[in-house]
Amino acid sequence: MKTRIPFDNSFAALTGGFFSHQAPEPAPAPTLIAYNLALGAELGIEAGDDLAEIFSGASVPGGAEPLAQLYAGHQFGNYNPQLGDGRAVLLGEVISAHGARRDIQLKGSGRTPYSRGGDGKAWLGPVLREYVVSEAMHALGIPTTRALAATSTGESVYREGAKPGAIVTRVAASHIRVGTFQVFAARGQIEQLQTLAEYTIARHYPDANGPEGLLQAAMDAQASLIPKWMGVGFIHGVMNTDNCQIAGETIDYGPCAFMDAFASDRVFSSIDRNGRYSFANQPDIAIWNMAQLATALLPLMPDPDAAVERFTVMLHAMKDDLRAGWLSTFAAKLGIAAPIDTDAALITDLLALMETGGADFTNTFNALTRGDASDEMTDRSAYGTWHARWQERLKGESGAQALMATSNPVIIPRNHRIEQMIDAAVAGDFALFQRLDTALKTPFTERANIADLKRPPSKQEIVPATFCGT
Ligand code: AMP
Ligand code: MG
Repeated sequence: MKTRIPFDNSFAALTGGFFSHQAPEPAPAPTLIAYNLALGAELGIEAGDDLAEIFSGASVPGGAEPLAQLYAGHQFGNYNPQLGDGRAVLLGEVISAHGARRDIQLKGSGRTPYSRGGDGKAWLGPVLREYVVSEAMHALGIPTTRALAATSTGESVYREGAKPGAIVTRVAASHIRVGTFQVFAARGQIEQLQTLAEYTIARHYPDANGPEGLLQAAMDAQASLIPKWMGVGFIHGVMNTDNCQIAGETIDYGPCAFMDAFASDRVFSSIDRNGRYSFANQPDIAIWNMAQLATALLPLMPDPDAAVERFTVMLHAMKDDLRAGWLSTFAAKLGIAAPIDTDAALITDLLALMETGGADFTNTFNALTRGDASDEMTDRSAYGTWHARWQERLKGESGAQALMATSNPVIIPRNHRIEQMIDAAVAGDFALFQRLDTALKTPFTERANIADLKRPPSKQEIVPATFCGT
């Protein structure tokens, strides 16, 4: 039986230079590494015996209209006038069982008109990282693109030596980014900008009133997303405007990682030398990215000068929203459902203790869920003082324990396990990949057989940086 995907494409119908038609390059010897059955079912896909061919680009399913999207973006603060899908093709869209429109995209399927110097390919390492981490984020309750499939292509790609080629199939609310608006604004293509704004509003924010409503909705989505990242110690790594999705999903899992020992200035990306995308900078960068969206939308405003003033007020308010989101996220991790202003000091004092002692982020909050984190701390007397304050604050809070149990995951995809998974997979062993994928579906559930996944890395296991592995 052939796989059937009930495509219902809308982006492909846009006219005005939003994309190039582009078929995926057929993989020479496709094999299926993983297929997300539950997600596939949610998308109405009838899985046949040709999944490897379809999700490696070797065969294009009926109803697909493969295309590569155009976008631009600020990379580490510098504007790059033309990026675009350089190694991805959108097969098309489906309507999910929940009535939501979803993109299905192959990533790593060969060159496109936007590849610039690149080969358009991906290798097994980043493909498996994206598969496991994006699915883990979903299980953690964090808005994210999903992983539908991983395939190996049967060819080598060259990244400091030959690596096994692979493709990840990504599912997203859409692939419209801040950079999609930027490219048309920068070129002065106002008609296209208008079309894109109308399309995005209809698709993501039907209640939004014009470009200003769109901006507010995109801001709200980011202000809700970033505190969720921080609550699990997630560092995205490359928050460029082309990796900032308008619908507010986490997108583009490159040099991302979850922190082990807490350090607010932690950076993982090997190319982020100035710490622009460090853990604690993420809220400010989200505001910066929304300021770029605001700038791109200005040409659509009837009175741009007045709009600049209003957009500035909105950006300032976003800072307050992010702060409130951070407070409620971390308060929940301490069992406090309705935080008050003074709770901020309770949180930052704990984080300071954790940072000084190099305490493990996930395990410390887990220990707190169980009642006491002194085993995670080096300065036990300072912790004792803090613990007493915390207990005092929790008096009269009902449901603290239940709130903590659903706010503090037991396991996260630790970076050293991801690296071990990749090393094993390159050697042909996918057992750790399967195990992580399965275990991370229920990250809040304590079990007997996950002790090794809870353990922070030993000195030898620490992964100092994650390379922009493409
Ligand atoms: P990223 O860092 O993954 O967000 O990618 C930034 C830009 O580089 C996007 O336009 C990508 O499509 C492009 N790109 C990344 N890797 C490759 C590759 N191997 N071949 C072609 N283009 C690439
Ligand atoms: Mg990108």
